[in-house]
Amino acid sequence: MKPAPFDYACPSTIDEALGLLAERGAAARVLAGGQSLLPRMALRQDRPGLLVDVNRVAGLGTRTTTGQGLRLGATVRQAAVLRAGSGAGLLDAALPWVGSPGTRARGTVVGSLCFADPAAELPTVLLATGGSLEVRSAGGNRTVEAAELYRGAGRTALAADELAVAVTVPLDTADTRSAWLEFGRRPGDLPLVGVGVVVRVHAGVVDAVRVACAGVHDVPWAVPVAGLRGAGDPALAQEIAEIAARECRPTDDERTTAAHRRVLVRTLVRRALERVLRPDTEVPGAA
Ligand SMILES: Cc1cc2nc3c(=O)[nH]c(=O)nc-3n(C[C@H](O)[C@H](O)[C@H](O)COP(=O)(O)OP(=O)(O)OC[C@H]3O[C@@H](n4cnc5c(N)ncnc54)[C@H](O)[C@@H]3O)c2cc1C
Repeated sequence: MKPAPFDYACPSTIDEALGLLAERGAAARVLAGGQSLLPRMALRQDRPGLLVDVNRVAGLGTRTTTGQGLRLGATVRQAAVLRAGSGAGLLDAALPWVGSPGTRARGTVVGSLCFADPAAELPTVLLATGGSLEVRSAGGNRTVEAAELYRGAGRTALAADELAVAVTVPLDTADTRSAWLEFGRRPGDLPLVGVGVVVRVHAGVVDAVRVACAGVHDVPWAVPVAGLRGAGDPALAQEIAEIAARECRPTDDERTTAAHRRVLVRTLVRRALERVLRPDTEVPGAA
């Protein structure tokens, strides 16, 4: 199949891009790496009237460090972050699982966050790390925290006239340990379940835990572990894995059953936490 007819614009400034988005509203789509948008258009699952190609917009390809963490502009490619390392351990651990070298060469980190696939790695990384998106429209700027960003499969809190100009991911401190594990049918596939964990271990005691799952709900899901503390031992990993398996609400779909996903949640959460709580533990990269 071929895409339905569409207009194409290649603005060179953010203001120009925002003007086009404001003018065409819901008919316009931002084109970043095109790795999700273009296949959808070719299959006529999406029929935008206008593509606003942001690849030549000045200032969107930058990578900087701010007080909040690593800031990646909207056209920074996944491959570039993987190559250079990010300083955020969970992002570095998850990126090799996103697609293939070919899709990562074009695909952007921000584009993956905006596409909001519930099984995608990067939205769950954003949730587990507590990152945020910087969003602009002709009406002004705002910051959307990861926990507020996702509204459902393929739906975010961004309005049709808003452009995500950058993402900020908190950098690791000396106390941070993180791991990403996922289970998929074939290399390069979206996972059936993916799990990201970030813990802070101070003087042998775990004093902060974040666990988030991809592929389980229609948005990235944070396992309710608030307030859990403990010695960095396997009992804590087991306790959190049981909470995750009990509290998750997966559904059957064409890729697998809810029961299978629940087993994957329990296993991957436990293994990911064992990996960070006892870094010497032998854990396979994928279940
Ligand atoms: C063969 C193949 C395998 C894949 N495997 C995986 C995988 O394992 N894991 C995974 O997560 N993904 C996978 N994907 C999907 C894809 O790699 C990501 O979704 C992609 O990288 C998204 O980034 P992009 O820059 O290409 O976004 P695009 O395709 O350009 O855009 C995606 C959507 O986000 C919107 N958007 C993009 N940038 C912005 C912005 N700055 N502001 C507002 N809206 C914006 C677009 O309008 C569009 O709706 C795969 C894709 C292919 C083709």
